[in-house]
This record gives sequence, C-alpha cells and structure tokens, in this order.
Amino acid sequence: VRRSFSTSVAAVDEATSPGISIDDTQLLIDGAFVDAASGKTFSTFDPRTGDVIAHVAEGDKEDVNRAVQAARRAFDHGPWPKMVPYERSRLILRFADLMEKHLADLAAIEAWDSGKPYKHCIDTEIPMVIRIIRYYAGWADKIHGLTIPSDGHHHVQTLHEPIGVAGQIIPWNFPLLMFAWKIGPALACGNTVVLKTAEHTPLSALYAARLLHEAGIPNGVLNVISGFGPTAGAALCSHMEVDKLAFTGSTMTGKSVLELAARSNLKPVTLELGGKSPFIVCEDADVDKAVEMAHSALFFNQGQCCCAGSRTFVHESVYDEFVEKAKARAMNRVVGDPFRVEVEQGPQIDSKQFEKIMMYIRSGMESGAKLEAGGARFGNRGFYVQPTVFSNVQDDMLIATDEIFGPVQSILKYRDLDEVIARANKSPYGLAAGVFTSNMDTANTLTRSLRVGSVWINCYDVFDAAIPFGGYKMSGQGREKGIYGLRNYLQVKAVVQALKDPAWL
Ligand code: NAD
Repeated sequence: VRRSFSTSVAAVDEATSPGISIDDTQLLIDGAFVDAASGKTFSTFDPRTGDVIAHVAEGDKEDVNRAVQAARRAFDHGPWPKMVPYERSRLILRFADLMEKHLADLAAIEAWDSGKPYKHCIDTEIPMVIRIIRYYAGWADKIHGLTIPSDGHHHVQTLHEPIGVAGQIIPWNFPLLMFAWKIGPALACGNTVVLKTAEHTPLSALYAARLLHEAGIPNGVLNVISGFGPTAGAALCSHMEVDKLAFTGSTMTGKSVLELAARSNLKPVTLELGGKSPFIVCEDADVDKAVEMAHSALFFNQGQCCCAGSRTFVHESVYDEFVEKAKARAMNRVVGDPFRVEVEQGPQIDSKQFEKIMMYIRSGMESGAKLEAGGARFGNRGFYVQPTVFSNVQDDMLIATDEIFGPVQSILKYRDLDEVIARANKSPYGLAAGVFTSNMDTANTLTRSLRVGSVWINCYDVFDAAIPFGGYKMSGQGREKGIYGLRNYLQVKAVVQALKDPAWL
C-alpha cells in the first residue's frame, strides 16, 4: 500500500542564495592556477536546481602529466621531503588555521556544490576536515624507524621514508573530508601529491588548495586536477611516475584503478569502496535510541555514504514497534533547501544518482517489500528524494544486496544471533556494522563475528581522526585515518652497517 508522504516541507522551488562567489575554477599545477592544456571546461551544477554554478577547467592526460612532473620535481629536488619535520608540521598547522578562518566560505561552497545541509557543514563536517589536518600535522615530527638487535656484528636500523608522488582520487559524497583524509597523511610523511576531485564537486578542494599555498607550502607539493574519471582519473592511475595511488569511490571503479596500477608500474594502491552495512537491533536494545541511530546511519548525507547502515536487521520481538517508529521518524525528516537551518536532508548529487535511487525504489515495490514511507520525488525541481522506508525486506531483493546510495531504509526481520551473523556476512562488502544491544556478551559475539572494518556499538558513524577506517572483502584494501593511515605513505628502508667490534646486545 502506497502511503502519503508528510515530511514537513521547506520550500525547494526557490533556492536560497549561498552568498558566495566562486573564484577558483582552474587547475592547480606547480603552485599556479592554470587553464587546461586543451582549453576545455566543464560545468558543475547546483543539485537544488540543476543550474550551473561554475565552469571549471577540465583536466585530461596532458594536464595530469604536467601535474605529475611538478610533483616529481617537488619530491626529487624540492625542500618538502627533506624539510625538518616540525617545519612541515608548522606549515600544515597554518593551513588548518586558514581553513578555520574561512570556515563559512568553505561550508557555503561545500553545501552549494554537493547539496549537503549548510548547518551540518559549518557545525560538523568542515571542523572535522580541520581536525584531520591538525591530527596529521601533529604526526609529521613523530614518524621514525626502529633500531633492531641483530646478530651482534651489525647495527640495523629502519628509516621510514615518504613513498614519493601520491596520486589520489576522491568522490563527491564528502568532497573536502576526503580531500583531508587523503592529503593529511601524505603531506605529513613528506610526499608530494596529485589529487583528482570528483567531477560533480570540484570547488571546495580548489579553495582549500589556495589556502594551503597561502600557508606557504612549496610549489608542486600539492597539485589539484578537476576532470573526469575515464580521462584524468585513468591517466593518473596509469602514470609511470606516480609511486602510490589512493582511491575512494565505487567498487567497480576501484577494480579498474587496481588494474591500471598493475599494468603500469605496480604502484601500491589503497582502496576505500562501497558497502552494504548491517545495522543490527537486538531484542534487548533501547528501541527508541536504536530507531534514531538506524535512521541517521542510513539517511545521513542524503544516504550517500559508503558506510550507510543500509540493511537494518531487527529482532522479531521488537520488529513491529521498530518499524512503526522508523516510519514515523522518516516521515518527520525535514527535507529541503540545504541552506535553511532546519533542513536535515538536501538533494541527491545529480540526476543520474536520482534516477538510480528511483529505480531501486521501484524494484523494492515490485519485489514485494512493503513501502512504509516515501517512495517518490520531493518537490518539483532539483534532485530531492522523499525519505523512504521499506519493511518486510528479504535478503535476495536488490534493495538488500546493492549499494543504493540514497535515502532508502530497508528493514529485515531476524530470529537469533547465529542467523543474523550469517545473513549480515552474506555480502561481498564488509565495510562497517552497527550493533544495538544492552548485553555486553552479545556485543562481543557480534563484533568478533562480523567481517567488517568498523563496528559501532550503540552508536554509528563515529569518525574521529585517530580511528582507522576501511573495508574487508570488496569494500577495499588498507586503512585510512589514525596511525594506520600513515603506513600507506611510508616506505621502510632497512640499513645494515657492519660493526668493527661486537655490539652490546
Ligand atoms: P566512481 O567510483 O565512478 O567515482 C569516484 C571517483 O573516481 C571520481 O573522482 C571519478 O571521477 C573517478 N573515476 C571514475 N572512473 C574512473 C576511472 N576509470 N579511473 C580512475 N578514476 C575514475 O563513482 P560515481 O560514478 O560517481 O558513483 C557511482 C556509485 O559509486 C554510487 O552510486 C555509489 O554507489 C558509489 N560511490 C561510492 C562512494 C564511496 O565513498 N565508497 C563514493 C561515491 C560513489
């Protein structure tokens, strides 16, 4: 039965002015903002309306090559990798201070280009970006190797050295946060970087990169290329002078990135890919809290999160109560213009994602899931989707197997712990899981049985800079953030020196 949708509506037909003009639209190569070699540009769009925000230089193979050469020179001959680490740290900290000074501008650009609620950007997401940058600035002068007792005739030490030129490719769902996750550890370790932004959201990284140069970073250390995946992205993956790749995006593109890296110079790759994360509500859970957390685990960021809690497993004893409350919560979600303070959910990123989500909603209805809330477009303009809830979802339905990347919650019923563990693990993905229970033993059993990179117990989406993040199975390779994130950007050199006299062991 299709129910009517009654989310309180903030007008979406008249978009509020973001109150900022866009100045940074060129490529950043070797410390200078330049046009693309081809002279081509592409448009970036306002997801609220589909209107053009700005025309941005479109980087391609030739521009990637110029950027890689600049990064190569900056690494091989520039001061950055050899800089006294606390100086490197000081420069990165100055960059964080400048971002803080321009917080409102960064938040406005991010909300405009991506459709995220502005209030969330200014209160939470951009401060998190700054925190990541400060966290890794703090690591710059704490990276060191080991002294290793060996056979008594040799002095053995390890040097932890930067890898060289890092190629980084980021998605559109967290443009500036992914920028920070990528450049933070790379720069702290003394690498140089060529970063390609997502074609949907090129603006905030360009603004931030300008601030990094105002902070005094040497030319060529960070180069930013706007452009498309199959052209600029693929060129970066294949480049013989790129020493390491880091990619966040879809699993399908991740495979292609890995292939290109293998076919060129075997550069090491870290991948942060898709997910279909289980959120498990046990019989002893606080249902009201679980409803609220499951709601935000799925609907946060318009449902466009790699770790969205997109399979809500609920124990049969609390299932009916949970479904009623989850439905009520979704119907109260405030959808609208992201520049209005009361808004919780803005538009999806573009028409392609919008259509994909609508296809999954149709598929859910056709396959026999019960539509409890939403299910349709919201408003008449832009790419807004009603917060949608399905109950009676079965494991083999497309809405339970595929990454929808939209505001569509799928609720599944389970009977016992062994069953839910098996069903939760029956996915090619293994990014994250939520566990809601008041029983410590249940929490421990689930934590150790779920084959995922993050488990959040009675919470979700906790993303402190020090906590590692990454996936099992087809959700990725390697970890980002925290001390684990540094390892991706360091080489270990073993240095063995013969001793004239036997060492004191
Ligand atoms: P995508 O993986 O194609 O894009 C991510 C980044 O990779 C972008 O910068 C893009 O330009 C680049 N890219 C694309 N093709 C490339 C190639 N051949 N070589 C190198 N780089 C390439 O994702 P998308 O098409 O924007 O979105 C499709 C789906 O991917 C979404 O619906 C969602 O399911 C998933 N997705 C996941 C994440 C995540 O954080 N895990 C982020 C974005 C999208």
